[in-house]
Amino acid sequence: MKYDVIVVGCGVAGMTAAIYLKRSGLSCMILEGKMPGGQVVENDKIENYPGFVSISGSDLALSILKQVKEQGIPICYEMVEEVTKDKKVRTAKKEYQANYIILATGRKPRMLGLESEEKYRNKGISYCAVCDGSLYKKKDVVVVGGGDSALEMVLYLSPLVKHLTLLHRRDTYRAKDTTIEKIKNLKNVSFVTGEVKEFTGEDQLNGILLKDGKKLSCEGAFLGIGQIPNTSFLSSLGILDEEGYIKVDKDYETAINGIYAIGDCLKKEYYQIVIAMGEAASCALTIRRCFDE
Ligand code: NAP
Repeated sequence: MKYDVIVVGCGVAGMTAAIYLKRSGLSCMILEGKMPGGQVVENDKIENYPGFVSISGSDLALSILKQVKEQGIPICYEMVEEVTKDKKVRTAKKEYQANYIILATGRKPRMLGLESEEKYRNKGISYCAVCDGSLYKKKDVVVVGGGDSALEMVLYLSPLVKHLTLLHRRDTYRAKDTTIEKIKNLKNVSFVTGEVKEFTGEDQLNGILLKDGKKLSCEGAFLGIGQIPNTSFLSSLGILDEEGYIKVDKDYETAINGIYAIGDCLKKEYYQIVIAMGEAASCALTIRRCFDE
């Protein structure tokens, strides 16, 4: 079957686009390589999504997913391996064809790239406080990073853990001033300036060795050092910038006619749920208009 539109990625942007496409009378499907919901499910509390004073990321994602299912939009859980200029989408299992493609593949946590990071991944090292925080109740943990992601991890983890060290490579932070102020008032949080040389331990992580020779003891390390776009499978298309983000025009169309991109796989100033949803609605309506012309 040839779909009017294939949406790659079942995060909030991809799901919003699919809802708009289907409601406008177009046939569409979503391809997702992992779980539905995307990175939003890692948010414990969202307090800037209008209509809800506070909602968890997983509740928000589930209610959008319910709406997608009620619209009868098919979701295939297959990792996309290739997208071609003639709008074919290949997974390990199958090849799909569409008239238009929307890429909504989001981002994933950046890694430090150390061998010992691989060794202790899921054995003390985590990239998601909401997912793994409960494993470290009353234990000593370190959060690495100085942006909003790292500092939000600190806010989430500090009531759970015994002591938390915020380790950042410089002594000024990118995160919002309001968040930094909240953290300064937390009794069980201390601040260390330094860079990770390696993670240490036996089977499980038990510490972090810093480049200046200091050692931090901890049972858990949460890395919040930024994000990278999930776009490596698109590298042959020539639509990525030097950081791997997808380049689009004002209508969210890439340099390839009929291939669009929305959400966090684009380089932009603000990575916010409502902004990704706005891009999705706008992109879907633009595609709908192409069918009328
Ligand atoms: P970010 O703002 O890029 O911050 C990454 C942090 O990690 C920086 O402090 C950076 O240090 C540090 N870092 C990067 N590479 C490192 C390395 N190799 N070793 C050690 N430290 C390293 O990333 P983010 O915090 O994930 O935020 C991304 C975007 O999402 C931002 O625009 C942010 O405002 C937004 N966001 C918003 C919210 C919210 O509004 N509630 C929540 C989360 C994220 P330097 O500062 O020294 O470069």
